[in-house]
Amino acid sequence: MLLTITTTRSPATDLGWLLHKHPERTQSFDLTFGQAHIFYPEVTDERCTAALLLDVDPVGLARRDRAPEMLAQYVNDRPYVASSFMSVAISQVLGSALGGNCRLKPELAEEPLPLVAKLAVVPCRRGGEGFLRKLFEPLGYAVTATRHPLDTQFPEWGESPYFTVVLTATVRVAELLSHLYVLVPVLDDEKHYWVTHDEVEKLLRHGEGWLATHPEKEQITARYLKRQGKLVKSALAGMAADDGTDPDEVAADQDLAEERLEAKVSLHERRLATVLAVLQEAGVKRVLDLGCGEGKLLRLLATDPRFTEVVGLDVSVRSLEIARQRLDRQRLFDGQRERVKLLHGALTYRDARLEGFDAAAVVEVIEHLDPPRLEAFSRVMFGCTRPGLVILTTPNREYNVKFEGLPAGKFRHADHRFEWTRAEFADWCNSVCSQHSYTVRLSPLGDEDPILGGPSQMAVFTRG
Ligand code: SAH
Repeated sequence: MLLTITTTRSPATDLGWLLHKHPERTQSFDLTFGQAHIFYPEVTDERCTAALLLDVDPVGLARRDRAPEMLAQYVNDRPYVASSFMSVAISQVLGSALGGNCRLKPELAEEPLPLVAKLAVVPCRRGGEGFLRKLFEPLGYAVTATRHPLDTQFPEWGESPYFTVVLTATVRVAELLSHLYVLVPVLDDEKHYWVTHDEVEKLLRHGEGWLATHPEKEQITARYLKRQGKLVKSALAGMAADDGTDPDEVAADQDLAEERLEAKVSLHERRLATVLAVLQEAGVKRVLDLGCGEGKLLRLLATDPRFTEVVGLDVSVRSLEIARQRLDRQRLFDGQRERVKLLHGALTYRDARLEGFDAAAVVEVIEHLDPPRLEAFSRVMFGCTRPGLVILTTPNREYNVKFEGLPAGKFRHADHRFEWTRAEFADWCNSVCSQHSYTVRLSPLGDEDPILGGPSQMAVFTRG
């Protein structure tokens, strides 16, 4: 990952004073996720460029004890793109400049300078170039964005979410760094760590003076704080205090139910990424997604050519319609589209269309079945459909005490018929295995609590 910052204000080498990094030297810094290097590829009085190069160690990341599932793969985009790692590097390596301090030339830190920042690769997830512009243009930047194709050899695969971005403005160095610090992770819409209340404080500190009046402040705050409802509300209230709005009014604007749902989305995304990784590692080709709902997992399966046939089944016609529309909207090239089929059906009845597949995913479905129907489900699933691999996930009830706002004894969703503890899930899995000759491996899903376990749990059954 590479960020360069250029100034043309003469003497341009003053940039070295502002960044507290000598233009004649290359300096390297150890960070928890790899190394950061600072060097100057261009040093003249007319033009000076500083480069921040991040060398992110993907293997180290994947091996970290509590690495989110999204990172639990050695091959990910983290080493190459501007992400929250860049923000961490800015604060640790260019901390004084970010804070607006310049010991030897304090007046320089106060002065808006002609600056050009270039980010080699920025993922603009959800919103693309339009959103990129909405973030930076209100702050006075001229934005140039060059989108990269998914694969230069296969233009028919379409565009990737990755852009090379050049931002030009006359601003203080501290302002530029604060804008990058906050907005790059917002564009990436992915964080390498779980957000806590500290992040609210960081957002307010680095957003001071510009975020409260930014037209996209709600979106920025929601994405920066990973849509954690309570944190978003507290940050917006903090900003409202900054711009004179009534904080209670802001808080009242937030729809609680939606927030809770949104916070769940990120757990759900992680859950789906884990299920996908298990399927990929198993090397299966023909896959069922049973109780596919609105087709979130299907969308992931559709784009991986290793899955030659993908069938989604659900009892809800409405969900299937939405899944169909989403697949239609997805940029799939010829051949990808035909591999995915949707079927209407129920998991509690034998269905010959589902037989002969390599694997089945049953993600957050069994808790929607009435307990007496569960027996029919396991008979059909493990006795008749009988794929070589079955991946099944369900909430872990023990974790519910950690969900604020969920009254004791209540389930997470109105349609859940039961939620199991880890022991109850293990008992059920073991009895399925002994009746139908499968073996099972159980694991937690999501950030694990040392006592309560993960928010969700996964069983991977292999036919014996
Ligand atoms: N697997 C999806 C959806 C989970 S919600 C996801 O992870 O996003 C549970 C889904 O199971 C709903 O779409 C519901 O319609 C479906 N479902 C519930 N009972 C079912 C049954 N008996 N047969 C098939 N699908 C069922």
